[in-house]
Order: sequence, then C-alpha cells, then structure tokens
Amino acid sequence: MCGVFGIFNHPEAANLTYLGLHALQHRGQESGGVVTSDEGTLHAVRKMGLVSDIFNRRKLERLPGRVAIGHVRYTTAGGSLPKNVQPLTAESRHGAVAIAHNGNIVNAESIRDRLEDKGAIFTSNSDTEVVLQLLARSRGMTLLDRVAEVLGELRGAYSIVMVLGDRIIAARDPHGFRPLILGRMPGYDDCYVVASETCAFDLIGAERIRDIAPGEILEISARGLKETTRSPEPRRACVFEHVYFARPDSVLDGTSVYEVRFKMGELLADEKPCDADVVIPVPDSGVVASMGYARKSSLPFEMGLIRNHYVGRTFIEPKDSIRHFGVKLKLNPVPRLLKGKRVVVVDDSIVRGTTSRKIVKMIRSAGAREVHVRISSPPVTWPCYYGIDTPTRKELIASSHTPDEIARYITADSVEYLSPEGLMASVGGDSGYCTACFTGEYPVQIATPPSRRQLRLVEV
Ligand code: AMP
Repeated sequence: MCGVFGIFNHPEAANLTYLGLHALQHRGQESGGVVTSDEGTLHAVRKMGLVSDIFNRRKLERLPGRVAIGHVRYTTAGGSLPKNVQPLTAESRHGAVAIAHNGNIVNAESIRDRLEDKGAIFTSNSDTEVVLQLLARSRGMTLLDRVAEVLGELRGAYSIVMVLGDRIIAARDPHGFRPLILGRMPGYDDCYVVASETCAFDLIGAERIRDIAPGEILEISARGLKETTRSPEPRRACVFEHVYFARPDSVLDGTSVYEVRFKMGELLADEKPCDADVVIPVPDSGVVASMGYARKSSLPFEMGLIRNHYVGRTFIEPKDSIRHFGVKLKLNPVPRLLKGKRVVVVDDSIVRGTTSRKIVKMIRSAGAREVHVRISSPPVTWPCYYGIDTPTRKELIASSHTPDEIARYITADSVEYLSPEGLMASVGGDSGYCTACFTGEYPVQIATPPSRRQLRLVEV
C-alpha cells in the first residue's frame, strides 16, 4: 500500500504536496518523496523515513515550480531500499518524467525480462520502473497516446500520478483496485489536485470533484483536463480499503469510510452478539466498527486500550521482530475499565494472529474476566497480489484454522467474524469490489505468485 499525490498549477506546489503526503502517511511509512516540475525541469527530494523527518523548510524551498507529485511508500514489490524510493524519475527523448505508483503490477517481472533481453538496464527493483522504461520506448503521437499504449501493457493494480515535462497524468487501472481522486483548489484558476484519499484534500483546503474512473487516463495541462478511458473492465475496488487501509474521514468512490466501518460494527453486533459488560476497540483500526458494535448491542463503549501515537502501524513494519516488539510499544491497557469485566474487543482483521494474541493477553493481564474478539470483516484467507503486503496463505491463520481454533491460539474466550454478506451490505451491497483476500476470487489472474527479484546491487 502506498499513497500518491499530485498538484497542478499552484505557487506552493511543493509545500502542498508535503502536506498532502502528511495526510496520507498512514498508507506507507517506509519512505517518501516529492518531485516538482519547474517549466519541465524536475527537482526531487526522496528519502527513507517519515514525511516529517524527510522534509524541512530548506528542502521544500529547493523544490521550485507550480507542478508537483509525491509518494509515501509501503513496500510490496521490490525491497525496502533507498533506490526504490518514489517518485522514480528518468530522462528520455520525450522529456523528464517522474512517477508515483500505488498498487502492484503483476506482470512487471515478465515485462522486465523482455526489456532486459533487448538490453534495457534498470536502476531499481521496483515494479514501477517498467512504466518508465516502456514510456521511453513508446511511439504514440500524443502524450495521451503514449501513456495509453504503456498502460495497456500492464496487468494488475495501479493508481499512478506522473509528471511529464510540465504536465500531470493521473491514471487508474481498468478494475480501479486502488483509489485515486480528483479535486481542485478553490480560489486558484485551473489548479487541480489528485490524491489517494480525500483526507489529503481536507488538509490543504481542496474540494473533491470526483474519483478518477477505473481505466481512466487524465492529462492535466495548461489547456485544462483531457481524459481518455480504456475498454472498461468490471470495477473491482479493494474492499480492504474500507475495512482497514483508508482513513475513516476519507470518502472513497463517493462512500464515507466512517459510515461503512460503523455499519460493519452494527451488522457484526446483529450477527455475532455477545453477553458482555463493555466494548473496547483495538485502536485505531477497530475504533469506528467498535462504536457501531457498542451502539447496536447497547453496551457501554470504553477506550480500554490507549495507543501511543508516536510509533507507526506495527504490522506495517516488514520485519517480524520489530512487529512483535511493537505491540507493547503501541498499546497499553486501562485496568480500571477492564478489571473483572466481560470484554468485547473489536478489530478490523486478523492476519497472522500474532498481534491479536498479544492484545488478548494484555487485556486479560489488566484483569478482564472474559475476552471476546469480534472482527469487523470476514476471515482473511488469501494473499493480496494487488498492492497490500499480506503474507503467504500458510501464514494467514484463518486459511487453516476455524474461529474456535483461532480463539484457542490467541487465548480468547471467543472469536467471531462479520459474514461476507454483512461486509457487502456495509459497502452498499455493490458487487464492484475485489474481495480476493476473503474469497480467493482474483479479478486479474497471475501465473505464479510474484517473485521478489534477487538483488544484484545493494546500497548501504
Ligand atoms: P495479527 O493479529 O498479527 O494478525 O494483526 C492484526 C492487525 O493487523 C489488525 O489490527 C489489523 O488492523 C492489522 N492489519 C491487517 N491487515 C494489515 C496490513 N495489510 N498491513 C498492516 N496492518 C494490517
């Protein structure tokens, strides 16, 4: 998962991109970068780390121009390495280009093999670089033709923002797996913004116009907006954005993430009630659903676990050792609220079960009499190949264990999940979602699970 941002025609393009990335920080915390275009000359600041650590006033002042794109990265394809930090940049006969990508191009390896056979060299091992390579070779007459030609070769998930010279291209794959939203800055003529989530617009005072449509390629230039849409495929927006990834104050495809999550909690209470004294969330991921659960079941809601906000999302750290240590760093129970109580703890999902197990133990050691886990989505049983770094099937606890077995493993008195029907009802009963992580029904087939290309150049 990553966050992308772009802004066209604003005197403070770099500053606003920095702020936009700040609002998207929950989508990736490994690295970040901003590339501005000053009349077609690109300027870049990119680094490993959090947005607030990467940028300061001096760095932002070195990013001139009225056009900018930015990226926060959470590794899926490629490694967690400085050379994969985005936006990636290149120069070609078509001019300077920068790209920020959210998603996972499932045929990137085979495209790369083909290009390498013809002598291409790559500077990163990120799937995103194949887009730059294909673009350099494209023959179309117009910019939109060339981009359409390149994107036509890609399979999988991509929400992309590019700078080409002094123009911005925003594009979404034909299924629309990952979100991408178009907005404008009131009070500024022809100033457009694009972002992974509307919470980035809220911070900078931009207005949402609409979501970029699945399959759409939008060119933003001094001549305004020019769009083309490629042959439509069934819309398959990632339902896990609503479950976990997106911020609850964001609006995806016109639907409030907060309302969806609250509904998930309400339906979970209907489907899987619990004789208990108090409902608590796993903060932050379970907060909104747990409020829905508490309201529907008429049980008191308490913040029984307090989160330290100065550590990142623990699961998101790819290294196991860091994740294990992270639970205590991140959460602390309030014994006064839990002692002697039958507690319902609500979270959005269980992946490996390691975090949940520690949380249950934590609640018990604070004196809870019973701990019942309620999960506001169905069991995650299949890996995601479209941009979320889920582990292999073997590591997904629900792929080989029933809820009762999971309860035993995480030492809970009970574990219950929202049904698939409840999930779909929460997002509006629409079938236009990718639910592969719950069902194994993959909208885009992949021949073999993506391999992690072996590194032959290590930067230290
Ligand atoms: P665990 O109990 O170790 O399976 O961890 C479950 C926690 O991971 C839940 O609180 C989820 O909110 C969170 N989570 C689920 N999916 C992801 C993901 N793809 N990346 C980061 N965190 C996730």
